[in-house]
Amino acid sequence: MNLRFVFVACLLVSLPRVAVALDYVSLTRDGKPIHLAGKVLTEAQDGGLLLQDREGIQWAVRAEELVKRTQDETVYQPMQQKELQAKLAQEMPGFRIHTTAHYLICYNTSLAYAQWCGALYERLCWSFQNYWKKRGFELRDPEIPLVALVFDTKANYERYARAELGDAVASIVGYYSRRTNRVTMFDLTKMNGLQGVGGRIGNTAQINWLLMQPGAERMVATIIHEATHQLAHNCGMHGRYADIPLWVSEGLAVYFETPDLRSKRGWRNIGGVNRSRLDRFRRYLPTRQPNSLETLIADDKRFKNLDTGIDAYAEAWSLNHFLIHRRCEQYVKYLTALSQKGPLLYDTPEERVQAFTDAFGANPAELDADFLRYMKTVR
Ligand SMILES: [Zn+2]
Repeated sequence: MNLRFVFVACLLVSLPRVAVALDYVSLTRDGKPIHLAGKVLTEAQDGGLLLQDREGIQWAVRAEELVKRTQDETVYQPMQQKELQAKLAQEMPGFRIHTTAHYLICYNTSLAYAQWCGALYERLCWSFQNYWKKRGFELRDPEIPLVALVFDTKANYERYARAELGDAVASIVGYYSRRTNRVTMFDLTKMNGLQGVGGRIGNTAQINWLLMQPGAERMVATIIHEATHQLAHNCGMHGRYADIPLWVSEGLAVYFETPDLRSKRGWRNIGGVNRSRLDRFRRYLPTRQPNSLETLIADDKRFKNLDTGIDAYAEAWSLNHFLIHRRCEQYVKYLTALSQKGPLLYDTPEERVQAFTDAFGANPAELDADFLRYMKTVR
């Protein structure tokens, strides 16, 4: 469902971040009754609303679906590890759950693979928070344990994920859903081309070794990319349904995506050069238009168009690299301002460009020469 259409033309009223009482909402969807308990995040003037339930799923409820809404004295409390674990066990029969400090890895793979995912994601969580802390942006821990669903085979993953992704599922090896707040993926060691390389996979070291093989790096990058989205949306960097420009949210995910499985921390050098994105940016340069930065910033169209998407991601990586390395203080202020945005309020292209210009003291056209000069030095 496209939330933009649910709430279109309605003036939204953002509610305070901390809801005191628990909201109960009953609705009818596709002829079936649904009963929710959680906190209402925002309401549309036509009576539609956005509710986050206690396990962190966000529900966009249209006015015509709404049957009843009440509230009582119970305080909204997000589910914690044990309760969420029980809920997942019920929802995913046949799956086991591996818990780490911040994650619930719900898996039907080998335990070794679930442990590998948990360790990788914990390292990412630590590195992500630490990276921004050092740059003056203090993030918080997620208020609800982060869930990753890991399927044993691509076929089982596709069967499950098709409901959310449609036919695109065939070309996507993992994804983060802003609605459910979960990352969903499958055992990458079972991919064609890797099978037979590693023999029996019994422990983390063997999995690491297998996933260092040529062909696996981009797949591992994808599941880290998706986990970076999950962290950004749960640690106070982006609101889940806030209008965060894609050059920022995607640019940051590609900035963090490349792992170094040889290193204990998982990343030898966060913010190091992402080779495949840099190569792509270089190939884009001969046809790059003088207003390229402006079109990247003003709206998300280039990211969503199949013909221009890959270049947009490459340019977003490049722009984030430039701003973090050359204008970090301004960039952190800009990110902090974005983190304050409420859900489902959309900026116009002019407002986006203006916010960028205010943050960096130069409009995209004025920044372009500096940006390109910098990118020539990136090796
Ligand atoms: Zn992404």
